[in-house]
Amino acid sequence: MKVIEHYQKANEPLISFEIIPPKRGGAVSSVFESLDKVVEKVKPPFIDVTYHAAEAHVEEQEDGTLKRVVRRKRPGTIGLCAAILHRYGIDPVPHLICEGFTKEESEDALIELNYLGIHNVLAIRGDNTGSQISLNLNGTVNKYAIDLVEQIQNMNQGNYLEDIMNAEPTDFCIGVAGYPEKHFEAPNIDWDIKRLKQKVDAGGDYIVTQMFFNNEAYFKFVEKCRKSGIDVPIVPGIKILTRPSHLVNLPRNFYLTIPDTLADEVSNDEKNAVKIGIEWAKQQSLELMEAGVPGIHFYIMGSPDPALEVVEFLKKK
Ligand code: FAD
Repeated sequence: MKVIEHYQKANEPLISFEIIPPKRGGAVSSVFESLDKVVEKVKPPFIDVTYHAAEAHVEEQEDGTLKRVVRRKRPGTIGLCAAILHRYGIDPVPHLICEGFTKEESEDALIELNYLGIHNVLAIRGDNTGSQISLNLNGTVNKYAIDLVEQIQNMNQGNYLEDIMNAEPTDFCIGVAGYPEKHFEAPNIDWDIKRLKQKVDAGGDYIVTQMFFNNEAYFKFVEKCRKSGIDVPIVPGIKILTRPSHLVNLPRNFYLTIPDTLADEVSNDEKNAVKIGIEWAKQQSLELMEAGVPGIHFYIMGSPDPALEVVEFLKKK
């Protein structure tokens, strides 16, 4: 079923999860161990799987020379999605990114998903990892997420990149990303929301937000989105702080702020960071639920236990 249909049919907020594929050479069994727990305790309506662009590194060769190598660290998103669908009967949502892909490669990936019976996609831009340089550019690259959304919408209308007579239309539900604390490249939040509205108008069926720790930011963001005419579900993304290092890494990597109270509590009691982070997430999620959010999307990556504890708490409320 499509993600948007899950939201439309739900009579309570939906709990969903986002995971990452293992590193190249890693065992898929570790992902299944996490998902077995998630499915046993929650049975989410859908599970997102992130996509990872190739990254450029400089590697020293045996003869001492340096070589620029472009490699995807975490391949396998589409295969993992197919495995989730068949192992659990749960709708997988692969992320598709613009970064590092030509439009032709994106079209091929969408055809594979269509054949696999996967009709949900989160369309995002990705960040510059240096891999784009290795592409044959020739004007075939999606620059922003909106370009990928338009490409998918075209396929949904039977319009592929080349003219094909009587081409079979695809039927993808498209999620897009939103930023309660604004995307780091946007000059201001209103400008960012205008771009978000364009993504939705181009075919985005729902929005999942970047993680945030301060609900006020989400509530204000939703209010601004509604005023600008965005009327699709805006699903809050929640990450649970579990390590003192998150105080530095999360703001650095995701351009978000961590409220004073949480930052002080963790830095004054580092040994109990997990406990403090889970407690924060419980109260944060409860407030969101009470405010009537369409669902909560937990970024669990490889470790589901903290999120499952939060969900357990929410169930009892
Ligand atoms: P866009 O919507 O293209 O926006 C990027 C920036 O460009 C914004 O500042 C926007 O305001 C601006 N912009 C948009 N359109 C235009 C235009 N026409 N002209 C000028 N400026 C414009 N990354 C991964 O690599 N893999 C993942 O699986 C992944 N999953 C994610 C899931 C979620 C829910 C979120 C929130 C982020 C995820 N990311 C992922 C990170 C994402 O790739 C980065 O945040 C990226 O920098 C922006 O992606 P976007 O789709 O929001 O980009």
